[in-house]
Amino acid sequence: MKICIAGAGITGCTAAMLLAEAGHDVTVYEAVTEVQQLGVGINLLPHAVAILDRLGLADRLEDRGIATSELVYYNRHGQRIWGEPRGRYAGYPVPQISIHRGALQVTLFEAARERLGADRVVTGHRFVSVSDDERPIAMFERADGSRTAVEADILISAEGIHSALRRQRYPDEGLPRYGGRILWRAVTRAKGYLTGATMIMAGHQDRKFVCYPIDKPDAEGLQTINWIAELTVPVMTERENWNKEGDKADFADQFTGWDFGWLDVAGLIDGAAQVFEFPLVDRDPLPTWTFGATTLLGDAAHPMYPIGSNGASQGILDADALVRALADHADPVEALRAYEAERLPATAKIVLANRGNGPEVCMQLCEERAPEGFAEIAEVFAEGELEAIAARYKAVAGFSKEAVRARTPGLPA
Ligand SMILES: Cc1cc2nc3c(=O)[nH]c(=O)nc-3n(C[C@H](O)[C@H](O)[C@H](O)COP(=O)(O)OP(=O)(O)OC[C@H]3O[C@@H](n4cnc5c(N)ncnc54)[C@H](O)[C@@H]3O)c2cc1C
Repeated sequence: MKICIAGAGITGCTAAMLLAEAGHDVTVYEAVTEVQQLGVGINLLPHAVAILDRLGLADRLEDRGIATSELVYYNRHGQRIWGEPRGRYAGYPVPQISIHRGALQVTLFEAARERLGADRVVTGHRFVSVSDDERPIAMFERADGSRTAVEADILISAEGIHSALRRQRYPDEGLPRYGGRILWRAVTRAKGYLTGATMIMAGHQDRKFVCYPIDKPDAEGLQTINWIAELTVPVMTERENWNKEGDKADFADQFTGWDFGWLDVAGLIDGAAQVFEFPLVDRDPLPTWTFGATTLLGDAAHPMYPIGSNGASQGILDADALVRALADHADPVEALRAYEAERLPATAKIVLANRGNGPEVCMQLCEERAPEGFAEIAEVFAEGELEAIAARYKAVAGFSKEAVRARTPGLPA
């Protein structure tokens, strides 16, 4: 099938490679003229890594990032609430990978260009609109205002949270929905902490600090530590923009004294050269993504709070589901409906679970039940309660060990 993808981000590039590998005739159109290493850290969960592994890219990504060993939650006093091994360290056949988003994006973009051909991953073409013909005709605009029409069997929008196709389909939807919190995101070169590959979350829903290394230690033991400082801010003053610079003066004082001995939060904040500011936003799940032979994928379909490390991973799962649906259905519209039937309800559940803090709810419960800290965690949580919270979210997000093994039969146990 002739498939046109708008957006050469993480999910657009992954979908392009998987579809091309399955024998489809794919072209991707990206709005920006030059794809740059933008963003800070990002995580790939094992079920998404398993799909990238099929494309032969997991090792390359692990080389550029780091296999996360564990995830540990703390209260704001630095007391450990709950922790669990992750990825390979938890017995999955593939790792959970923490990596710079720019490195992930460029690795996928370059791999897509190598495999599809440079003329099939076209930059400087912004998707504007699509016709409702049986074979959709998509309109793309260049920086000089000139336009190109592209006819295909299927059009996929992988344009991210500001998808123009989504806006065309839902003109009254309006702006993304603000969740009442601002995230300041940055990286700092610093000495590694705990296992050297630990993701930690500390605090509670109104004042939270998350950090994890996104590369391996250098000769001096220094690593690039990605961190996110998050505060409740009732009114949003600026719309979401991934590249908006933030100001440490707006949040740093809220983390003064957060020195846990093994981690100096204030020191990490102080050491960052540049900080980005992004509001906690998502969108309500849609009734449908598919109109004729056009559909949505990744953040265009289901932007969600960055809770549970799911943003990029769910888009990669979408791409995989789309390829399977096209293998099962000769008719493009039926294939897109099958893809949507698998992925829309699954991702809607995650969007809603993340609004309730997802697996991080344990931090909020701890703050509510023991704001001044605890002598023993057993005073705060009933036996099995913490395990149940973690297991429930893994099942919702589809990365229980059984689910990952079922989708990766070729991988060693
Ligand atoms: C610049 C940037 C920085 C980010 N930084 C982080 C980060 O640090 N940490 C994190 O967890 N997440 C970050 N994200 C979001 C993260 O990449 C996504 O949540 C997730 O990976 C899902 O990816 P996606 O490919 O669906 O969407 P995106 O990553 O948003 O990619 C969408 C792509 O489509 C392109 N595009 C947009 N509109 C059009 C159009 N009309 N026509 C053609 N192309 C279009 C965009 O330029 C982009 O390349 C960032 C996103 C962007 C765009």
